[in-house]
Amino acid sequence: MAYDQDNIFAKILRGEIPCNKIYEDDYALAFHDINPQAPVHALVVPKGDYENHAAFAADASEAEILGLSRALAEVVDMLGVAKGGYRLISNTGANGGQEVPHYHIHILAGGPLGRMVTKDIA
Ligand code: AMP
Repeated sequence: MAYDQDNIFAKILRGEIPCNKIYEDDYALAFHDINPQAPVHALVVPKGDYENHAAFAADASEAEILGLSRALAEVVDMLGVAKGGYRLISNTGANGGQEVPHYHIHILAGGPLGRMVTKDIA
């Protein structure tokens, strides 16, 4: 599927709508989630046009892949959640509950996060 240039994270990356920025470099932007699901809830997005991890893994350059990974670690560090622990999530597609079709990784932290999946789908 073609990347949707009108998705909300593409607009944030183009500076068309604001975000509560945490970190930015050549490869990634991190900002606080507008509807936090934990005391700390941040999003880290690559700057390139990738809908999900599969597209990123297939099409991003090695520098972009390394850059996103390093940015993620940097943001975890900046948020001060490494010691207490945190959870990384990347929702993908309909079953994954992905709302925004631009690859992003959630950082959730700030207290015990409970079970990984609350709804029993088995
Ligand atoms: P997902 O279901 O993984 O696609 O999650 C998308 C996330 O983006 C949700 O947690 C939303 O609360 C968050 N979100 C949507 N719009 C914005 C925005 N303008 N700024 C920050 N976070 C947003």
